[in-house]
Amino acid sequence: MNTPSEPTTILYIEDDPASQKLIERALKHEGFTVLTAASGLEGIDMARKHSPTLILIDINLPDLSGREVCTILRCDERFRTTPMVALTAQGQEQRNTSLASGINGYLLKPVDIIELPRQIRHYLAGGQDTLDDASKAEAQLQFTREVVMRLEERLRDLDSMNKELAHLDQMKETFIQLTAHELRTPLTLVYGYSRLLADHPPLKRLMEMDQNINGLVKGLSEAIERMHSVINELLIMSRIMTNQIDIASGPTNIARLVAATIQNYEHALQSRSLTLNFDPDEWPQNIRADSELLRMVFSNLLSNAVKYTPDGGTITLKAEQRGDWLRFSIQDSGIGINPEDQPYIFERFHTTRDLSMHSTSKTAFGGGGMGLGLPICKGIIEGHGGRIWVESERHDPALLPGSTFVVELPMITSGKSTPTIIKSLTQREN
Ligand code: ADP
Repeated sequence: MNTPSEPTTILYIEDDPASQKLIERALKHEGFTVLTAASGLEGIDMARKHSPTLILIDINLPDLSGREVCTILRCDERFRTTPMVALTAQGQEQRNTSLASGINGYLLKPVDIIELPRQIRHYLAGGQDTLDDASKAEAQLQFTREVVMRLEERLRDLDSMNKELAHLDQMKETFIQLTAHELRTPLTLVYGYSRLLADHPPLKRLMEMDQNINGLVKGLSEAIERMHSVINELLIMSRIMTNQIDIASGPTNIARLVAATIQNYEHALQSRSLTLNFDPDEWPQNIRADSELLRMVFSNLLSNAVKYTPDGGTITLKAEQRGDWLRFSIQDSGIGINPEDQPYIFERFHTTRDLSMHSTSKTAFGGGGMGLGLPICKGIIEGHGGRIWVESERHDPALLPGSTFVVELPMITSGKSTPTIIKSLTQREN
């Protein structure tokens, strides 16, 4: 309820800029405060935010019709008695359905600018255009039909847009897969040649004699290996997204698999003075799983623990059997992850760091990849019927609260079959 000292605020919802300007000017000239919105949805938001004294609505808006805007606002206690006046160029035929939707008054376009302030004051004072009972019932039915038909139209639009997006998504995945395949073939050759070159006796001698040449050749092989693994990550991720990855389950010695993965990081652990705790006896030696894919999971989690833990830190790997489940964790004493970032780090291309600081090292402190490591882990673990999550207090590079990545896998020993279907990540996220 406005007190006399409060200005009268009129919200005018109109998509035609010329009409908007004309009426806004005329109303302001009369001392009204005028707010404008160019669509039904914007108008609803503005009304909820500013609680105007009167709402002037064009009937034909680009999204919702003026009548629908009125019906939506009338559902809200705050707008039960707010005067709402419809404006339209479409003759009297829309009058009845507008009144049936909850509109108080109806003005025809082109608006008579001289008359408008008087008409507005009439509705502000409680003016109400009326309908006889028979016309009202008929108009309400007509309005309901209109809303239902528009709803159907919108649902059909959404359905076809959804199909179009799914098609584009499929094309994008095919493009990624083709590009990655095309790049992988020549890269394998380049990798082979670089190995041949490094093993070529005269070059080997030269490398031993000249540290610069040694550095150049090693740098070349490392860069090629990194490129190879980036392309592989893209391919695996794309297959996970398109349900094309098969879990080739077989007897898997996890204890040995983890030990072998740690071996690959031995050099990094030493050079970065990181302590790694791992007791192979805690880990099962025979479960059914896809060992190649699980190796990728351990490698990604270990690589992250190394990357996000400063020199001198500790990484602890633990495993325990809980009923039919194997639960294992990789805990680090690193920079930690904020709780609000935790749900997103398992999404593709998400990285919590400043991209301008991006480096592609798998072992340097703060080095990073493309933000595909964890989504790949999630896809592989869920494909095995398991789950993965992170526990961390917060992100704090000074106090180093650390992070623990936990994985639960169903313990399927030989004889039982493993779930082999990977649902699309998108489906599961929904
Ligand atoms: P990236 O290739 O960027 O490391 P990931 O998918 O492996 O991609 O990880 C996504 C993001 O999650 C990382 O960019 C990092 O911000 C965060 N993250 C992952 N593991 C850890 C960890 N052990 N400690 C702190 N942050 C981590």
